[in-house]
Amino acid sequence: MCSTSRLAPLMLIGLLAGCSAPSAQPAQTSRQQPAAAANPITVDSTEEQIRQAVGTARVGRKLTPKVWPNGARMAVCLSFDVDNELLQRANPLPVPLSVGEYGATTSLPRILELLDRHGVPATFFIPAMGVMLHPEMVPAIVARGRHEIGVHGWIHEFWPAIGDTAKEQRLLAQSIEYLTKATGKRPAGVRAPSSGFGPQTFDLIRKAGFLYDSSLLAADEPYEITSNGQPSGVIELPISEVGNDYVYYGETANGSLPSPDAVFEIYKAEFDLAFQERTMFILTQHPHVGGRRSRIVQLDRLITYMKSRKDVWFATMEQVATYVKQQRS
Ligand SMILES: [Zn+2]
Repeated sequence: MCSTSRLAPLMLIGLLAGCSAPSAQPAQTSRQQPAAAANPITVDSTEEQIRQAVGTARVGRKLTPKVWPNGARMAVCLSFDVDNELLQRANPLPVPLSVGEYGATTSLPRILELLDRHGVPATFFIPAMGVMLHPEMVPAIVARGRHEIGVHGWIHEFWPAIGDTAKEQRLLAQSIEYLTKATGKRPAGVRAPSSGFGPQTFDLIRKAGFLYDSSLLAADEPYEITSNGQPSGVIELPISEVGNDYVYYGETANGSLPSPDAVFEIYKAEFDLAFQERTMFILTQHPHVGGRRSRIVQLDRLITYMKSRKDVWFATMEQVATYVKQQRS
């Protein structure tokens, strides 16, 4: 009891905001993001300055195809941000580290078994040093033969806080190189750690030659990113906070509410409308969060429900991005 009460404040300090939960960012960004990371919009800004301030990565052409493969009504992407211990960078003490370590030791095998049982693919975004810490993860994912692994930073660093374009570019390049060596395949996609896009980040992603990004939240369907008014050729497969386990179960939610049953109902409603709209549904899970027993039971239930609709295309994000890029007219 006594030791637990002493550790609690340390855990709170050590637990950084979650992976793809922008609303959970202020505590992190206030410490790390340089004040001059982006030009602020003020009452004195001109129309052109405002246009430029928002112009780095915008919604361009919508890319929901007229027809999905095999006559499916929609696409489903199951994505997992394998952050594990690297969310505890600021204060890497044993107890908060163990919360993340659970993601590798227990959740990931459980998730892979679940995906095997349903015969569906998934996309795993893994920080390079997460691969180093748990070298068993990548072979376990690759051995299934149907999953994808994408870039998720070097140490899950928050890119807007780097404040040095050359350094940010180097980190991105070495992350790509590390994953390429580990998986035997150059990653096609990237998801920014903690949804952190600095002013130069999109340009670096484009120059690195990624097929797609999955960090932005501007639509419920695939689109081409427009940068400073110009089509970029990079596909966005947008995420949402609603489809993210972290906002319900993560540290900022204190793991308290809503119940896994309620989360299932939210995901189901998101899927149902995507089915009606014939677009896509992207689920974003964090193994150390959503891979807990009570929660993965609901993920199992969700996949079972989605499969029951029959005409649904379960695909990796690379497969979806490749397809919509081919189909664009
Ligand atoms: Zn993450």
